[in-house]
Amino acid sequence: MKSLHLKAGRDKSVKRRHPWIFSGAVERVDGSPGTGESVLVKAAGQPVAIAAWSPKSQISARVWSFDAAARIEKSFFESTLRKAIQLRKSLPAFQHSNALRLVHGESDGLPGLIVDRYADVLVAQFLSAGPEHWREVILDALAAETGCEAIYERSDAEVRSLEGLEARVGFVRGNREAKRCPIVEHGLQFRVDVAAGQKTGFFLDQRENRQRVRALAAGREVLDAFCYTGGFAVAALAGGAQHVLAVDSSAAALEVAKENLAANTLDTSKMSFEEADVFAYQRLLREQGRSFDLVILDPPKFAPTAAQVKNAARAYKDINLMALKLLRPGGLLATFSCSGGVSVELFQSIVAGAAADAGVDAKIIERFGAAADHPVALSFPEGDYLKGLLLVRA
Ligand code: SAH
Repeated sequence: MKSLHLKAGRDKSVKRRHPWIFSGAVERVDGSPGTGESVLVKAAGQPVAIAAWSPKSQISARVWSFDAAARIEKSFFESTLRKAIQLRKSLPAFQHSNALRLVHGESDGLPGLIVDRYADVLVAQFLSAGPEHWREVILDALAAETGCEAIYERSDAEVRSLEGLEARVGFVRGNREAKRCPIVEHGLQFRVDVAAGQKTGFFLDQRENRQRVRALAAGREVLDAFCYTGGFAVAALAGGAQHVLAVDSSAAALEVAKENLAANTLDTSKMSFEEADVFAYQRLLREQGRSFDLVILDPPKFAPTAAQVKNAARAYKDINLMALKLLRPGGLLATFSCSGGVSVELFQSIVAGAAADAGVDAKIIERFGAAADHPVALSFPEGDYLKGLLLVRA
């Protein structure tokens, strides 16, 4: 078998079962493997893992198995996918929603593969050379294991370019007209635009956090900043909010948010939408003397990697500072960061800095993470990207 030899002293990460092998750790590769082909990883001449070769990426290989004798073939993908799907079926969320993340990349043993289920449609992202190489096998196995006839491919994420892969989108199984999938989450109806929506169309990682917000919203005047298709906004209204102001800079997202509001039996007069930049709009609200009892801040990834952390920290501080100023005494702020480059500790210290600068006293009363269908392998802490705090203003 073609093989990848690690440099002397560069086997610590693989021994800790971290799935990424960086180019700097590679001594040499024997046998000229093709992109995505399996290579036997060797440390000091001893086989330690089997990985997918990705010559164009800084992550030269991603481990499929730490059992060097494993065979990476159809049955490997079938059994790994089956295990991932079994886990989801055992989760409480399975009883409350027909939309779940079935495969969460590295943490499900399938580096570079994301699969979300929206009712009877699957949305798959092939984000690195390994899954790209096994794409047809994976698609067949997904159809067989889930019984879903329609699979939409959303291989249009930025990261594919780092792997030297072109973007690819469209139905790859079960050609369908409709690209909006109706789903149910904790009894609430949502429409997911699998073709034009962000990521795979919906932020499933926030499911349980939306449910928490719903439980806290009764009687409150709510600001949902960065509302996307209205996940938190609809949940807050369903929880008895007095009024919800939902803000996003994307007109397309707001259009779906309005459909989502209409799809539920809610008093539509209690929600208003604003197409605006949250940074400027929060200032405007402040100038207008507006205030709220509950603010949700769920911005996009300001720092995908550690390199962008400094600018991201400034952006997080700014929106949190303004949000705290907009809160009435006793008001709640649910604030999130999905930046891989920003740790929980850093996020908390940024928010603390924002409160200090705003001259506001606030306490943490709850911490948030991603829903359980987004597991984090202990050997892959990078998978722990979503963090959030629930604060109460004194
Ligand atoms: N809370 C949402 C997900 C938010 S995703 C949910 O639960 O579904 C982040 C959103 O921020 C996207 O919809 C994007 O359009 C929006 N966005 C990005 N930059 C923005 C800005 N400066 N002002 C307003 N919205 C912005």
